Amino acid sequence: MQPEVMTAKPIENGSLRETARLGLTLRGELVLATDPAYAQARQVWNGLVDKHPAAIAYCAGADDVVAALSFARENAMPLSVRSGGHNVAGNSVCEGGLVIDLSRMKNRSVDDKRRVAWAEAGLTLAEFDGATQVCGLATTMGVNGDTGIAGLTLGGGFGKLGRRFGLACDNLLSAEVVTADGKVLRASADENSDLFWGLRGGGGNFGIVTGFEYLLHPIGTEVLAGSVVFAETKARDALRFYDEFARTAPDELSLDAALVISAGERMFSISVFHSGSPREAEMAIAPLLAYARDKAVDVQLGRVPYLQVQSAGDAMFPRGNRYSWKAQFMRELGQDAIDVLLDVYKKAPNDNALLVFQQVGGAISRVPVSETAYACRDAEFDCFPVAIWNDPSRDKENIGWVREVWAAVKPFSTGAVYVNNLGNEGEERVKAAYGPNYRRLVELKNKYDQTNMFCLNQNIRPRMPR
Ligand SMILES: Cc1cc2nc3c(=O)[nH]c(=O)nc-3n(C[C@H](O)[C@H](O)[C@H](O)COP(=O)(O)OP(=O)(O)OC[C@H]3O[C@@H](n4cnc5c(N)ncnc54)[C@H](O)[C@@H]3O)c2cc1C
Repeated sequence: MQPEVMTAKPIENGSLRETARLGLTLRGELVLATDPAYAQARQVWNGLVDKHPAAIAYCAGADDVVAALSFARENAMPLSVRSGGHNVAGNSVCEGGLVIDLSRMKNRSVDDKRRVAWAEAGLTLAEFDGATQVCGLATTMGVNGDTGIAGLTLGGGFGKLGRRFGLACDNLLSAEVVTADGKVLRASADENSDLFWGLRGGGGNFGIVTGFEYLLHPIGTEVLAGSVVFAETKARDALRFYDEFARTAPDELSLDAALVISAGERMFSISVFHSGSPREAEMAIAPLLAYARDKAVDVQLGRVPYLQVQSAGDAMFPRGNRYSWKAQFMRELGQDAIDVLLDVYKKAPNDNALLVFQQVGGAISRVPVSETAYACRDAEFDCFPVAIWNDPSRDKENIGWVREVWAAVKPFSTGAVYVNNLGNEGEERVKAAYGPNYRRLVELKNKYDQTNMFCLNQNIRPRMPR
C-alpha cells in the first residue's frame, strides 16, 4: 500500500518548507502532509469526503487562529475552517490548502446564576450539554452528540428544545470572532451588531468564531422521551395522524419521525420528546397514546436523562461511513405528499436508508425573519432522505436514490432549505436557504470579507466592484 503522502495533491501555493514555518508560531500543532498523523487529520465525519490539504493547523486559541489566518492570507493559500468536522458537505477540509482546525479548543464555563454558558468552538454537542446539565440547564442543540456546536450554531441550529426556546442561534448572546483582516472582535446585540446578525445563520461566511456565549434554560435533567413505531401497513394512516398531531403540539413537545427499515421490515417511527413537567407531558402525549393503542407495534416511553436522549441517535451515524442527504422544508405533509413519500421509500437502496422528518416550528417560527440571518422560520418539518453505506461502488445508487426522493418531494416543499443540511448544491440553493435575507448578507460579506477568504462554505459571494 502506498503511504498517504504519495497520494497527497501538490501544495498549490507556498512550499512545504514555508508551510512548516507556521508550526513554529502556533501554540497548537501543525500537521503536514508528510506527517504520520496526516492520514487521520484530513478525515471528516463523512467518509465520502476525500480531500488532501497541504496542512492542518490545530489551534489552541484565538491567537493561533489569527496566526494561521494571516499565514494563509500572506501565502495566498486556500483555507477551510473546521470545528466538529461533521458537516455532510465536507467543506471544512480543502484541497491543497490550510485547514484551520478549532476542534481542540474545548474550554467552557457555566454561570448557573446568570444562566449563561461560554463555550469555545471546538466543543461537540455532547461536551456542551454535559457541562450545562451539571446545573440542570440546557439550550437548543441538535440531535447527534458528535456534531460541533460551531457549525451547528452558525447555520441556525435546531433540535428537541427548539420549539420551546428557539434555534441555537436565537440563544446566542455574543461571539468572539476573528475576521478576514485578522482582528479579534466581539459580536453581540450591542457590539458589531451587524456582524452578530450575520453570524446567527450566515454560516462561516464572516469570520472564524472562536467562542460562543449562550443563554441557558432550566429544564432539569430528566425529560419524557421514547418512540412509537408503526408497521408499514399502518404507516399511511399514522403519517396522517403525525402530521396533524405534530403541527398542533405544544412547544414543549417535539416530534421527529422517520421511515426506517428494522429487521428487513419498513416501519414508521415517531420519536417523542417533552421537556415540561411530568403532568404536562402526560397530558400532551395522551392523544398519541390513544391513537397508538391498537395500531402501534411498539411503544417505548418513559422519563429518561436528557443527556441520554441527546446521544440516543449517535450509534446510527458513526464517523467514516459514506453519507448523502438532500433536505427541504415542508409546512405540512398532506395526503399526496405522504403517498409520494411512502412510494419512494420503497426504493431505498439498503436497510440503513432513512427518510427523516425533523420537527421545527413553535418558538423558532415566532422570531421575525429579519431578526437573524437564518430565514426559514415558517416551516414545520425538515424532510430529508439519508443514505448510509460503505462500499464506494455503491455511491451512484445511494446518491441517486437521495436525489430521486428530493425531486419527488419538491412539489410539496416550501422551496427553502436548511443551510446546514446543504451538500455542494450551487448558489441557487444557498439563495433558497436565505430567501429575503440574502441581499443583506451580501452587503455584510462586502464589509467583512470582500475578497471572499471564507469561500469554502455555503458561500455568500461578495458583490464585485464595478
Ligand atoms: C448526523 C448529523 C446530525 C445532525 N443533526 C442536526 C440537528 O439535529 N440540528 C441541526 O441544526 N443540525 C444538525 N446537523 C447539521 C450540523 O448542524 C452541521 O453539519 C454543522 O455544520 C456541523 O458543525 P461542525 O462544527 O461539526 O461542522 P464542520 O464540518 O467543522 O464545519 C462546517 C462548516 O461550518 C463553518 N465553520 C465551522 N466551524 C467554524 C468556526 N469556528 N467559525 C466559522 N465557521 C465555522 C465552516 O464553513 C465549515 O465548512 C447534523 C449533522 C449530522 C452529520
